[in-house]
Amino acid sequence: MYQDNHLCSLLARHAVLTPDHIFAYRPGLPDVTYRALFDGAERTASALVAQGLQPGDRVAVQVDKSIEAIQLYIGTVLAGGIFLPLNTAYTASEIGYFLGDATPRIVVCAPDRQAEIAPLSPATCLTLAGDGSGTLTDALPAEPGFDPVPRGEDDLAAILYTSGTTGRSKGAMLSHANLASNSDVLRSYWRFTREDVLIHALPIFHTHGLFVATNVALFSGASTIFLPRFDPDAILEAMPRATAMMGVPTFYTRLLQDARLTPERAANMRLFISGSAPMLVDTHEKWLERTGHRVLERYGMTETNMSTSNPYDGERRMGTVGFPLPGVELRIMENGEEVPDGEIGVIEVRGPNVFQGYWQMPEKTAEELKEDGWFITGDLATRDADGYVTIVGRAKDLIISGGFNVYPKEIEEIIDDLPGVVESAVIGVPHPDFGEGVVAVVVGDTTAEAIATALSETLAKFKQPKTIFIVDELPRNTMGKVQKKALREAHAKLFG
Ligand code: AMP
Repeated sequence: MYQDNHLCSLLARHAVLTPDHIFAYRPGLPDVTYRALFDGAERTASALVAQGLQPGDRVAVQVDKSIEAIQLYIGTVLAGGIFLPLNTAYTASEIGYFLGDATPRIVVCAPDRQAEIAPLSPATCLTLAGDGSGTLTDALPAEPGFDPVPRGEDDLAAILYTSGTTGRSKGAMLSHANLASNSDVLRSYWRFTREDVLIHALPIFHTHGLFVATNVALFSGASTIFLPRFDPDAILEAMPRATAMMGVPTFYTRLLQDARLTPERAANMRLFISGSAPMLVDTHEKWLERTGHRVLERYGMTETNMSTSNPYDGERRMGTVGFPLPGVELRIMENGEEVPDGEIGVIEVRGPNVFQGYWQMPEKTAEELKEDGWFITGDLATRDADGYVTIVGRAKDLIISGGFNVYPKEIEEIIDDLPGVVESAVIGVPHPDFGEGVVAVVVGDTTAEAIATALSETLAKFKQPKTIFIVDELPRNTMGKVQKKALREAHAKLFG
């Protein structure tokens, strides 16, 4: 039956080929074999169907990371459902919006949140705790065995709500073919095999931890060291027997602060991958110095899965996100035309990785996903003569001051190179004369005067920050992205 469901056949492949191979090593908990993982996934699929799940129904899930949560993902897909993971940080009122919008048949939440979440929708509400207990687990039949529901390439496998930096959160609809094709490309591009042991410390409510890390491991039959969250101690302990890690830049900057990070500790590793937010060149350099490994940086987003990657064998160029992945078309556009090499434009992407549109938002979909298949990412980038793509920011972070375009990344790079500076964020806030005024928020052992002096020597007047703040840290979300929206809000009244 697996041949009628391509994604499920890829997910299940190694449970059939090497059932006794370990899928997850869990510090302090029993190992989980591929067979055990799939037995649980099949039992979960049976339980979901017994609870009334029909093909195409949504299963909304806000739970802590666990093997059972992975089984809930796989079980939902086996049962023909649409998996809808939600950030564990969302409050009940935020969850209320998602449940109203997505109208799931089943909601699974942490036991201690059931009283709040169950009344928010007419869905059947089950519970699952981080230790695997809960009413979902109680409802599993004793016997595994489940024939995957046949599904076509374009049928949906998941809806992931984007963090929505402006306006309402949008549900990105991802089909079976979107997920299957992208994870399969990444598996071969990054050379994942059954011999790999992947440090899996990312959350599984986001595309990075769920589709990049989990699917690539499953598709290649690799083992994971499955950690409930980012924990430097656990990662450093795992590293000597691991071969690969996927992380957000914050993983790398935090690990660099630990003296136990040495070339010896990283000797068994073959690949460190970073993405979801830009990694500073400085971090790349320090990582190389400390471990002897060049981080491989890639770029993607919820709507497109992964679009570009630095090469496995060729030169991994720091500060760039590499080349379009095999099968992915990428162009950099301004005013309806491709820009010449070296100039800034908006990235558009087309290919089997690109999502099916936003759930119940046909107008939003039409604005961003064109009929000919090109998706407008909103990311600003340049491409150099060798084809390497460099992200320079989000189109909506572009500052227009006195009619001039100011690209925050250009200023941030100069500030980051100054003595004592750790990192910086440059934003535009309303200004009575200029429309927007440039503001720099800087972390490091420095002063506003020192930065202002240095910038006055290198930057045109209109690009120079009108105000510079020195702070202890920049606001970041769980995926390590600097929250420029929060900074803009905090300083909105700066110029009156
Ligand atoms: P998300 O949908 O949460 O995965 O966020 C996707 C966004 O993260 C992209 O549109 C980019 O703005 C940003 N992003 C992802 N990877 C990178 C990267 N390697 N460098 C710079 N920005 C990135």
